[in-house]
Amino acid sequence: LDMKEDKDFDATNSPKRRSRRSPRFPQKNSLEALADQSRKSDFGRKKSSDDEDTHATDHDADDKKLAQMIMNEIVDNGEEVKFGDIAGINDVMAEIERMVIYPLKRPELFVGLLACPKALLLFGPPGTGKTLIGKAIAHESDATFFSISPSSLASKWHGESEKLVRTLFDLASFHEPSVVFIDEVDSLLSQRKSNEDESSRRIKSEFLVQLDGVGTNTNGRLDDAARQRFKKRFYIPLPDRHGSEALLRTVLSNGSHTLTNENFEKLSRDTEGYSGADMKTLCKKAARVPLQWVDIMRIDGNSLPPISYDNFCQALSCMNPSVAQDSLQVYDDWNKKYGNKA
Ligand code: ADP
Repeated sequence: LDMKEDKDFDATNSPKRRSRRSPRFPQKNSLEALADQSRKSDFGRKKSSDDEDTHATDHDADDKKLAQMIMNEIVDNGEEVKFGDIAGINDVMAEIERMVIYPLKRPELFVGLLACPKALLLFGPPGTGKTLIGKAIAHESDATFFSISPSSLASKWHGESEKLVRTLFDLASFHEPSVVFIDEVDSLLSQRKSNEDESSRRIKSEFLVQLDGVGTNTNGRLDDAARQRFKKRFYIPLPDRHGSEALLRTVLSNGSHTLTNENFEKLSRDTEGYSGADMKTLCKKAARVPLQWVDIMRIDGNSLPPISYDNFCQALSCMNPSVAQDSLQVYDDWNKKYGNKA
């Protein structure tokens, strides 16, 4: 999570001063400002020749183009996720609210002894809601949400990646409050391998600079130096029974169903080992079961049958949890050693 401040930019352009409803869209002014900043920083090296102006103009155009690409492709303007959409991990969410949301909303209060860490590590098996939490943090704090993964960096931005990382953090500063969500951060910061190409090496170095210096180890998990940069580390595990029930209730809250409290309890027991993503898939499969018996082309939208417990049983019979049980030990161990209690 990047919550850096940047004093270079004109505060009147800050998203906080704009409408709370439209903080996430690229502002022309922001791109101009980026170009201005670039001229002051290392992007805009001073030219000594007569054609300085031409070079500077080309340079600005490139920077603007890059900034525009980031705003188009890395800023996530997708679904708005609220804290209430995240089920089964109330303790973590309460801690995140205290540690992240309040400081983003009232930065003037959280200074000195009250200053909060700026980088938060969420770890755990896939499909447990880590990305969802990132989106919810951005939405609840009216922040701009920048979302990247090492694989997208490698494929989309090959060649420009290092500059992209720097520009990304510049834009995040400008648009503060910002959330920079880095998926698979462990693979991004894994130890430099001898066969690694120059470009990947430079991207990593740039991230290390931006994250205030981070290092890593060979097996993809973060080593001491990296870990210490993430002052708060929350384990987001597979849901327990209560979590599964909460997930079911949350996902089903938007549709009609005939499940009783007992049905919810039974389903939460029968879905042990399912991730949040699996629970969502299960609900979708169950919702599709009754469609087999209706005439899709003729039925009125309001007459669709509600989802029943039997539909869930049928859906469950052709599903397995996506996370292998024996892959969980490593998260538990890491959590015991390095995780923070919510
Ligand atoms: P991760 O980033 O941990 O791999 P995601 O946040 O991408 O997982 O979750 C994938 C999907 O699973 C979400 O879009 C959401 O539909 C569902 N999901 C996972 N965990 C939860 C949760 N705790 N509450 C509600 N939905 C969840």
